[in-house]
Amino acid sequence: EVPVITIDGPSGSGKGTVSSLLAQQLGWHLLDSGALYRLTALAALKAQIALDDIAALSKLAKNLDVSFRTCNESSQMQIFLAEEDVSLQIRTEEVSLSASKVAAISEVRDNLFTRQQGFAQSPGLVADGRDMGTVVFPDADIKFFITASAEERAQRRLKQLQAQGIDANIQRIFEDIVARDRRDSERAIAPLLPATDAIIIDTTPLTVDEVLVEIKAHLKG
Ligand code: C5P
Repeated sequence: EVPVITIDGPSGSGKGTVSSLLAQQLGWHLLDSGALYRLTALAALKAQIALDDIAALSKLAKNLDVSFRTCNESSQMQIFLAEEDVSLQIRTEEVSLSASKVAAISEVRDNLFTRQQGFAQSPGLVADGRDMGTVVFPDADIKFFITASAEERAQRRLKQLQAQGIDANIQRIFEDIVARDRRDSERAIAPLLPATDAIIIDTTPLTVDEVLVEIKAHLKG
């Protein structure tokens, strides 16, 4: 059995950064499951498929031609959709919003399920998402649920955008985060909830390094 660590939580909690650093440090594979929903949404936008066309969207999710490649120099992951580097395109607000809509469709989730499980390969996997510990890897060796207050997550997002030279409004960002949280946690299918056996870490007062130290302390235990 390949060892699996799941890291779930809301957007902006820092779980993406933490998961990618942890995978690098352990020398394990990384599954960015949110990217698969983002890729499905982006492919739909490109093909002009309506976000309520369940049959077309589930087919799209099933046949998604994606690859995750690690660029050796930066050790940053590059994400390709049909041989096009879409690493930046999948992070826009439009795609974020569309991703959370396609993620509410059970046929889409079902069609991404086996693909996600396929990432569990030797020597191990760090799986980042919303339902990694509850649905995709219920038998994972250790599960984390990483949160932070909505205010703190809005601040982090603002800094991220400013670093990219993008002018943003903190109130808008905060409202978007609260709305997305609500959609992700109130949806009927795979709502965002910690697994009953997950270790919950509130990162509001913590740096990324401090979160990693805490996670690693649990791995040793
Ligand atoms: O984590 P990220 O923000 O990239 O995820 C984008 C969207 O995909 C989320 O808002 C959520 O609706 C959905 N998602 C999901 N299940 C996952 C990962 C992401 O429903 N395991």
